[in-house]
Amino acid sequence: MASKTMRAARLHEIGGRFQVDSVPVPEVRDMDVLVEVKATGIVPNLRNVITHYPTWFPYLPLPKLPAIYGLDSAGVVAKVGSRVRNGVKPGDRVYVNPGLSCGSCDACRKGEPINCSSYTFMGYFGFGPGSQQIYEDYPYGGFGQYLTAPATNLVKLPPSISFEQAARFGYVGTGYSGLRKANLQAGQTVLVDGGTGTLGVGAVISALAMGASKVFASGRNKSLLDRLQSIDSKRIHAFALGERATAEIIMEATGGQGVDVVIQALGANAPAATVVDSLNALCRGGKAVNIGGVAETLPIEPIPMMVLQKSFIGSLWFSTAEGQAMAAMAEAGTLNLGVFEHERFSLETVNEGLDAVEQRTGGFTNVVVMQ
Ligand SMILES: [Zn+2]
Repeated sequence: MASKTMRAARLHEIGGRFQVDSVPVPEVRDMDVLVEVKATGIVPNLRNVITHYPTWFPYLPLPKLPAIYGLDSAGVVAKVGSRVRNGVKPGDRVYVNPGLSCGSCDACRKGEPINCSSYTFMGYFGFGPGSQQIYEDYPYGGFGQYLTAPATNLVKLPPSISFEQAARFGYVGTGYSGLRKANLQAGQTVLVDGGTGTLGVGAVISALAMGASKVFASGRNKSLLDRLQSIDSKRIHAFALGERATAEIIMEATGGQGVDVVIQALGANAPAATVVDSLNALCRGGKAVNIGGVAETLPIEPIPMMVLQKSFIGSLWFSTAEGQAMAAMAEAGTLNLGVFEHERFSLETVNEGLDAVEQRTGGFTNVVVMQ
């Protein structure tokens, strides 16, 4: 390696701005890999988290400051730990799944790392009391030149996937994993509520990749709905939220059947009534998966849910194995990562990138820090 220090954009105080500092390049441990970061997403919720903490979900711990943020990173393997056996080698292009787990609790031993009570997003925030320890073990986010990650968190990238596209894997993967948890089969129908947003676009292209026969997608912005429709004019049916009840539109279009799967991807400000409306669009036995941020309490009637055998499932993020499947689907041409429009910033202009995220128009924009 050329130098023993690296540049990293760090946050020094809540509500502050990122500042480029010189910090030591991390040592690689036995089971870890050192990755030279090429692209990292600036995710829509980042400013919210670093400006409003701790009023922003105080039970979701942040790393101790100063900290290197940056959630979704892709880059090139620089060094491999001595006990890494998965064949990765220096020079390999990889996406780093930022979801870290402790590796040995009950959930981890059951093969459910996302249910680990220490589950933590590298360079973002954690989900439990064990997260601070994970941050001490992995304090490097994507807004630094290098980061360390467990070898088990790497998705190997084929040459056809750009680093910018890979920096969007988190939000695409969240939709993909949600559809998998709903057991979506080829030929079935899907409704993505909030289909033009950052999570929604990922869910729509994932549903297409998985062979859905029809993907209904709701949104508020007419030009974004048109753009979404144009991805696959035959299979996508994009419609405006709020003009008519969603359930009415879906029942009419499906001959009174309803959709097999609902992906709920609406944001924090959407009313609970919209979520209930989407549940009414489900077929008998249908599954609704929440990957969105609707904050209101839902008035769900348990008896119709029982009688019609409907499920409402919460789904967080995605596994590294699912990320590898996404890479394979993108390479095969079934997962269309070409729908994104990249806005590129440097480490020095991360703060401007945060502003750009706020001005984005819907989920097609992908704001990334390039190095
Ligand atoms: Zn665990």
